[in-house]
Amino acid sequence: MRLADRMSRLGTEAAFEVGARARALEATGRHVIHLEIGEPDFDTPSHIIEAEKQALDAGWTHYPPAPGLPHLREAIARDSTARRGVPVDPSQVIVTPGAKPIMFYAILALAQEGDEVIYPDPGFPIYESMTRFVGATPVPIPLRQENDFRLDPDELVRLVTPRTRLIIFNSPANPTGGVLTREDLVRIADVARERDIPILADEIYGRIVYEGEHVSITTLPDMPDRTIILDGFSKTYAMTGWRMGYAIAPPALVEPLTRLVINSVSGTSAHQQLAAAEALNGPQDAVDEMVEEFRARRDLIVDGLNAIPGINCLRPKGAFYVFPDIAGTGLTGTEAADRLLNEAGVSVISGTAFGKIGANHLRISYANSRANITAALERMCSVFAPTGV
Ligand code: PMP
Repeated sequence: MRLADRMSRLGTEAAFEVGARARALEATGRHVIHLEIGEPDFDTPSHIIEAEKQALDAGWTHYPPAPGLPHLREAIARDSTARRGVPVDPSQVIVTPGAKPIMFYAILALAQEGDEVIYPDPGFPIYESMTRFVGATPVPIPLRQENDFRLDPDELVRLVTPRTRLIIFNSPANPTGGVLTREDLVRIADVARERDIPILADEIYGRIVYEGEHVSITTLPDMPDRTIILDGFSKTYAMTGWRMGYAIAPPALVEPLTRLVINSVSGTSAHQQLAAAEALNGPQDAVDEMVEEFRARRDLIVDGLNAIPGINCLRPKGAFYVFPDIAGTGLTGTEAADRLLNEAGVSVISGTAFGKIGANHLRISYANSRANITAALERMCSVFAPTGV
């Protein structure tokens, strides 16, 4: 069947494909440790599950308003105002099935042929994929290990042109765990203001920070009117399978983004919206416990990787990924990921899945138990340092 030309410009997300390959190997009887997908291994906290059951029993099974139920939009506005310290009105909130559609909608709404979109390399692959899909030109801004995987604002200034229609960044970041500083954000905001460029701030890992604090660019003057915040429930509340996310958008963008919701999904599961409101309004101790556990896992994996000859791994300040430089092993990221899966039953992703800068890197998710991380490190040693370390 003939596909529309634009389909040739649409990429994919390697985590899903690598996961499928790992499961195919498991089906042959091999044991695989999964460190490929960015998914908390914890269960969704029970009070959220309870709220979901009650919402179903109470009959919340009908179409919701397209941008979301007022109860959840109010909860999100209250949570964001408290966490970011910037007033958000419930009318600025658009609820979506997972946070990913926000990338789709923001890029569709703001970029077209002839436009340029600046996005992080390495970065979440969908930013580039969607930019190409809409016919715009993706312009990568490199994030380098020697700069703690933070973007260089001077480089940003050089990359901006009169055709730049959107700047995307993600902090704390997937795949690197890098966190932008307030000074970085001040510089990015200066560029956005001077050149009148909107920002897509992917803050989905905003609650998963180990050192310092997460700063939102919306805390800076004028930035709430230029920034779409992307956030959601998948990572913070271990709710990846629920598909619950949201945007906080400048008032001028609420109607266009809502129209994209109406044209694509109509809205987000009504009963789940009530459960998501409970996630925000209820006790937060499960989130704090998860973050503490992630911190212990981060230290375990960073120390373990740095003990392997040829591997150089930063200690990230946020999210639950490491992005070690493996150049010293003599293998590329792709070669290493293949060998780790096939020879050692450890599923990780080649850094190239996140952009050119990742060629000598692996993306390893440590959203797995300490026992599995320890076992995976031993298996990795058997591939990278077969004579023992
Ligand atoms: N942004 C980033 C940087 C992510 O890593 C992910 C999920 N891996 C998302 C957004 C999308 O999250 P969701 O599962 O809510 O669609």
